[in-house]
Amino acid sequence: MPAIPFPKKKVPRRIALEQLATLERTYPHAVTALEYEDEFQLLIAVILSAQTTDARVNMTTPALFAKYPTPEKLGRARQSDVEQIIRSTGFFRMKAKNIIACARDIVERFGGRVPHDRDDLESLAGVGRKTASVVMAAAFQEEALAVDTHVFRVSHRLGLTLGTTPRQVEDDLTALLPPKKWGDATHWLIMHGRAICKAPTPLCDRCPVNELCPTPAIIKRMRRRGPGSP
Ligand code: SF4
Repeated sequence: MPAIPFPKKKVPRRIALEQLATLERTYPHAVTALEYEDEFQLLIAVILSAQTTDARVNMTTPALFAKYPTPEKLGRARQSDVEQIIRSTGFFRMKAKNIIACARDIVERFGGRVPHDRDDLESLAGVGRKTASVVMAAAFQEEALAVDTHVFRVSHRLGLTLGTTPRQVEDDLTALLPPKKWGDATHWLIMHGRAICKAPTPLCDRCPVNELCPTPAIIKRMRRRGPGSP
Protein backbone atom coordinates (compact mmCIF):
# COMPACT_ATOMS: atom_id res chain seq x y z
CA MET A 1 0.00 0.00 0.00
CA PRO A 2 1.34 3.52 -0.76
CA ALA A 3 2.09 5.87 2.14
CA ILE A 4 -1.05 6.78 4.06
CA PRO A 5 -1.59 10.54 3.97
CA PHE A 6 -2.26 12.29 7.25
CA PRO A 7 -5.74 13.77 7.79
CA LYS A 8 -5.99 17.32 6.47
CA LYS A 9 -8.27 18.48 9.29
CA LYS A 10 -7.94 18.25 13.04
CA VAL A 11 -10.64 16.33 14.90
CA PRO A 12 -12.88 18.41 17.21
CA ARG A 13 -11.47 18.96 20.69
CA ARG A 14 -14.12 16.71 22.27
CA ILE A 15 -13.02 13.78 20.08
CA ALA A 16 -9.34 14.54 20.70
CA LEU A 17 -9.92 14.37 24.45
CA GLU A 18 -11.79 11.07 24.08
CA GLN A 19 -8.93 9.63 22.01
CA LEU A 20 -6.36 10.65 24.61
CA ALA A 21 -8.47 9.32 27.49
CA THR A 22 -8.73 5.98 25.67
CA LEU A 23 -4.97 5.84 25.16
CA GLU A 24 -4.46 6.69 28.82
CA ARG A 25 -6.69 3.76 29.83
CA THR A 26 -4.94 1.47 27.34
CA TYR A 27 -1.41 2.30 28.51
CA PRO A 28 -1.79 3.04 32.23
CA HIS A 29 1.80 2.13 33.10
CA ALA A 30 3.50 3.83 30.20
CA VAL A 31 7.16 4.56 30.93
CA THR A 32 10.27 4.85 28.83
CA ALA A 33 11.60 1.52 27.56
CA LEU A 34 15.18 2.73 28.07
CA GLU A 35 16.94 1.11 31.01
CA TYR A 36 18.85 3.43 33.34
CA GLU A 37 19.80 3.87 36.97
CA ASP A 38 20.13 7.62 37.29
CA GLU A 39 19.55 10.82 35.35
CA PHE A 40 23.04 10.76 33.83
CA GLN A 41 22.48 7.28 32.41
CA LEU A 42 19.05 8.29 31.13
CA LEU A 43 20.47 11.34 29.38
CA ILE A 44 23.20 9.33 27.67
CA ALA A 45 20.74 6.57 26.71
CA VAL A 46 18.36 9.10 25.14
CA ILE A 47 21.20 10.64 23.10
CA LEU A 48 22.16 7.15 21.90
CA SER A 49 18.55 6.32 20.99
CA ALA A 50 18.52 8.72 18.00
CA GLN A 51 17.83 6.75 14.80
CA THR A 52 17.75 3.39 16.57
CA THR A 53 15.53 1.38 18.88
CA ASP A 54 15.43 1.51 22.66
CA ALA A 55 16.08 -2.26 22.66
CA ARG A 56 19.32 -1.71 20.76
CA VAL A 57 20.37 1.00 23.21
CA ASN A 58 19.57 -1.28 26.15
CA MET A 59 21.94 -3.89 24.68
CA THR A 60 24.72 -1.30 24.52
CA THR A 61 24.51 0.77 27.68
CA PRO A 62 25.40 -1.91 30.29
CA ALA A 63 28.94 -2.18 28.84
CA LEU A 64 29.20 1.59 28.42
CA PHE A 65 28.14 2.38 31.99
CA ALA A 66 30.24 -0.46 33.44
CA LYS A 67 33.32 1.21 31.98
CA TYR A 68 32.21 4.85 32.37
CA PRO A 69 29.73 5.03 35.28
CA THR A 70 30.02 8.79 35.92
CA PRO A 71 30.21 12.01 33.90
CA GLU A 72 33.80 12.42 35.13
CA LYS A 73 34.83 9.03 33.70
CA LEU A 74 32.95 9.37 30.41
CA GLY A 75 34.23 12.94 29.99
CA ARG A 76 37.80 11.61 30.09
CA ALA A 77 37.17 8.64 27.77
CA ARG A 78 39.01 8.09 24.52
CA GLN A 79 36.60 8.56 21.64
CA SER A 80 37.75 5.43 19.81
CA ASP A 81 37.07 3.29 22.92
CA VAL A 82 33.54 4.68 23.25
CA GLU A 83 32.93 4.20 19.52
CA GLN A 84 33.77 0.51 19.86
CA ILE A 85 31.15 0.04 22.59
CA ILE A 86 28.31 2.00 20.97
CA ARG A 87 29.00 1.05 17.33
CA SER A 88 25.75 -0.93 16.93
CA THR A 89 23.57 2.10 17.73
CA GLY A 90 24.48 3.75 14.41
CA PHE A 91 26.02 7.19 13.82
CA PHE A 92 28.50 5.98 16.42
CA ARG A 93 31.28 8.51 15.70
CA MET A 94 29.01 11.50 16.16
CA LYS A 95 27.28 9.93 19.16
CA ALA A 96 30.59 9.07 20.85
CA LYS A 97 31.83 12.62 20.33
CA ASN A 98 28.58 14.05 21.68
CA ILE A 99 28.27 11.91 24.78
CA ILE A 100 31.90 12.56 25.76
CA ALA A 101 31.44 16.31 25.22
CA CYS A 102 28.11 16.19 27.07
CA ALA A 103 29.69 14.42 30.07
CA ARG A 104 32.53 16.94 30.07
CA ASP A 105 30.03 19.83 30.00
CA ILE A 106 28.16 18.33 32.95
CA VAL A 107 31.39 18.16 34.96
CA GLU A 108 32.79 21.54 33.97
CA ARG A 109 29.61 23.64 33.95
CA PHE A 110 27.20 21.84 36.30
CA GLY A 111 29.41 20.33 38.99
CA GLY A 112 28.93 16.77 37.76
CA ARG A 113 25.09 16.82 38.07
CA VAL A 114 22.67 16.69 35.16
CA PRO A 115 20.83 20.04 35.18
CA HIS A 116 17.00 20.16 35.55
CA ASP A 117 16.46 23.33 33.58
CA ARG A 118 15.48 23.06 29.88
CA ASP A 119 17.85 25.78 28.70
CA ASP A 120 20.76 24.21 30.60
CA LEU A 121 19.93 20.75 29.27
CA GLU A 122 19.67 22.01 25.70
CA SER A 123 23.05 23.71 26.07
CA LEU A 124 24.73 20.29 26.46
CA ALA A 125 26.39 18.64 23.45
CA GLY A 126 24.02 16.36 21.55
CA VAL A 127 20.93 17.46 23.51
CA GLY A 128 17.97 18.93 21.60
CA ARG A 129 14.46 19.74 22.72
CA LYS A 130 13.19 16.15 22.50
CA THR A 131 16.06 14.71 24.56
CA ALA A 132 15.70 17.46 27.14
CA SER A 133 11.94 16.81 27.41
CA VAL A 134 12.42 13.07 27.96
CA VAL A 135 14.96 13.69 30.72
CA MET A 136 12.89 16.42 32.36
CA ALA A 137 9.76 14.24 32.43
CA ALA A 138 11.29 10.86 33.30
CA ALA A 139 14.14 11.85 35.61
CA PHE A 140 12.84 15.01 37.24
CA GLN A 141 9.04 14.65 36.94
CA GLU A 142 8.92 18.04 35.21
CA GLU A 143 6.07 18.95 32.88
CA ALA A 144 7.39 18.17 29.40
CA LEU A 145 6.07 16.38 26.32
CA ALA A 146 8.60 14.90 23.91
CA VAL A 147 7.81 14.54 20.21
CA ASP A 148 9.68 11.65 18.61
CA THR A 149 8.85 9.90 15.36
CA HIS A 150 6.04 7.83 16.98
CA VAL A 151 4.42 10.79 18.70
CA PHE A 152 4.60 12.78 15.46
CA ARG A 153 3.02 10.00 13.34
CA VAL A 154 0.33 8.85 15.79
CA SER A 155 -0.85 12.34 16.67
CA HIS A 156 -1.14 13.20 12.97
CA ARG A 157 -3.06 10.02 12.18
CA LEU A 158 -5.43 10.73 15.04
CA GLY A 159 -6.06 14.24 13.71
CA LEU A 160 -4.67 15.86 16.87
CA THR A 161 -2.36 18.15 14.92
CA LEU A 162 -1.53 19.49 11.49
CA GLY A 163 1.90 20.63 12.67
CA THR A 164 4.77 20.24 10.25
CA THR A 165 7.50 20.48 12.90
CA PRO A 166 7.92 18.62 16.21
CA ARG A 167 7.53 21.93 18.03
CA GLN A 168 4.16 22.63 16.40
CA VAL A 169 3.00 19.10 17.24
CA GLU A 170 4.14 19.59 20.82
CA ASP A 171 2.20 22.85 21.07
CA ASP A 172 -0.99 21.20 19.75
CA LEU A 173 -0.70 18.26 22.14
CA THR A 174 0.14 20.30 25.22
CA ALA A 175 -2.89 22.52 24.49
CA LEU A 176 -5.10 19.43 24.87
CA LEU A 177 -3.78 18.15 28.18
CA PRO A 178 -3.07 19.45 31.67
CA PRO A 179 0.70 19.88 32.23
CA LYS A 180 0.83 17.02 34.75
CA LYS A 181 -0.14 14.58 31.96
CA TRP A 182 2.37 15.77 29.35
CA GLY A 183 5.09 13.27 30.30
CA ASP A 184 2.70 10.31 30.42
CA ALA A 185 1.07 11.34 27.12
CA THR A 186 4.46 11.04 25.45
CA HIS A 187 4.54 7.39 26.48
CA TRP A 188 0.90 6.63 25.55
CA LEU A 189 1.62 7.82 22.03
CA ILE A 190 5.00 6.09 21.76
CA MET A 191 3.63 2.77 23.03
CA HIS A 192 0.64 3.02 20.73
CA GLY A 193 2.94 3.78 17.80
CA ARG A 194 5.11 0.77 18.55
CA ALA A 195 2.32 -1.72 19.26
CA ILE A 196 -0.59 -0.75 16.98
CA CYS A 197 -0.28 2.48 15.02
CA LYS A 198 2.86 1.24 13.31
CA ALA A 199 4.79 2.79 10.46
CA PRO A 200 4.18 2.25 7.62
CA THR A 201 0.97 0.23 8.17
CA PRO A 202 -1.22 0.77 11.24
CA LEU A 203 -3.18 -2.15 12.70
CA CYS A 204 -6.47 -0.23 12.77
CA ASP A 205 -8.58 -3.37 13.23
CA ARG A 206 -6.95 -3.91 16.62
CA CYS A 207 -6.92 -0.28 17.68
CA PRO A 208 -8.91 0.90 20.72
CA VAL A 209 -9.38 4.39 19.21
CA ASN A 210 -10.45 3.09 15.79
CA GLU A 211 -13.96 4.57 16.04
CA LEU A 212 -12.62 8.01 16.91
CA CYS A 213 -9.76 8.17 14.42
CA PRO A 214 -10.04 9.73 10.92
CA THR A 215 -7.32 7.56 9.35
CA PRO A 216 -9.30 4.28 8.82
CA ALA A 217 -11.64 6.21 6.49
CA ILE A 218 -8.62 7.51 4.56
CA ILE A 219 -7.27 3.95 4.22
CA LYS A 220 -10.67 2.68 3.08
CA ARG A 221 -10.82 5.42 0.43
CA MET A 222 -7.33 4.50 -0.79
CA ARG A 223 -8.30 0.84 -1.09
CA ARG A 224 -11.48 1.69 -2.99
CA ARG A 225 -9.62 3.88 -5.47
CA GLY A 226 -6.90 1.30 -6.04
CA PRO A 227 -3.09 1.32 -5.98
CA GLY A 228 -1.27 4.63 -6.20
CA SER A 229 -4.22 6.82 -5.23
CA PRO A 230 -4.00 9.06 -2.13
S1 SF4 B 1 -7.22 3.73 14.06
FE1 SF4 B 1 -5.39 3.18 12.90
S2 SF4 B 1 -4.45 5.10 12.33
FE2 SF4 B 1 -5.91 5.55 13.96
S3 SF4 B 1 -4.69 5.48 15.82
FE3 SF4 B 1 -5.57 3.46 15.52
S4 SF4 B 1 -4.01 2.30 14.42
FE4 SF4 B 1 -3.51 4.48 14.24
